[in-house]
Amino acid sequence: MSKPYYIGAHVSAAGGVENAPLNAAKLGASAFALFTKNQRRWEAKPLTTKNITSFKENCDRLGFTPEQILPHDSYLINLGHPEKEALDKSRHAFLDELKRCEQLGLKYLNFHPGSHLRKTSETECLATIAQSLNWALDQTQGVTAVIENTAGQGSNLGHTFEQLAEIIDQVEDQSRVGVCLDTCHTFAAGYDLRTFQSSEQVFTAFDETVGFEHLCGMHLNDSKGALASRLDRHHSLGQGEIGWDVFRFIMQDDRFRGIPLTLETIDETIWMEEIQTLRQFTRADQ
Ligand SMILES: [Zn+2]
Ligand SMILES: [Zn+2]
Repeated sequence: MSKPYYIGAHVSAAGGVENAPLNAAKLGASAFALFTKNQRRWEAKPLTTKNITSFKENCDRLGFTPEQILPHDSYLINLGHPEKEALDKSRHAFLDELKRCEQLGLKYLNFHPGSHLRKTSETECLATIAQSLNWALDQTQGVTAVIENTAGQGSNLGHTFEQLAEIIDQVEDQSRVGVCLDTCHTFAAGYDLRTFQSSEQVFTAFDETVGFEHLCGMHLNDSKGALASRLDRHHSLGQGEIGWDVFRFIMQDDRFRGIPLTLETIDETIWMEEIQTLRQFTRADQ
């Protein structure tokens, strides 16, 4: 039996991480993303034993296994920072995020690769990101670092499949590095996802350059920005520049089974509806 499609959204963890699975279940989701701390702050209180046990209990009770959950790290972290002090701060914060995932028994940590801030070359920045991963992975166990592709806004790297591959190639433990493709970012970075045929070409290129064996999750978002606009502006499914075809494509392609597929669309009042629509796109054997 092939694995199911795991479909959900990036839900709130307000009041404690243990609330995230409850919020996901209310949406009828079979996957979810969450922040394990405030994503706009460096400091965070450690997770308490109660947070950890309640999180695990809620996940168990509601049927969420670690392969259905894609935690996202803080937006402040830049693992490719060109300056030593700031890089160290980012690395320690990332290590803390990995450890929080480890404590929660989670399998993945989704992060944005990093930015060179126009102070170093792309090659140097990609190497720094890989070194950051090696340093942090070495001090943890069981959690895979999942690189999210970016729209290429500003000096953010990771907007081409080649850049993702360049980071992965320099990671020592290949079994603990993965990729999350965000459809909005992919499109804004210049990969056309507007038709079945163009989507097929984009994912073939991804497979040839990075490889589906590294795909650990997807962020399902439409885009307010045009193709190759390099703008990171999410939209509700079907309401932006991409349209529905790529989402139909994903829900009918077995390579997207068994990994968290999560919405980060702008109107959370229609998430339940969006999840239902995606589920309807899957073949009748679901
Ligand atoms: Zn992200
Ligand atoms: Zn995303």
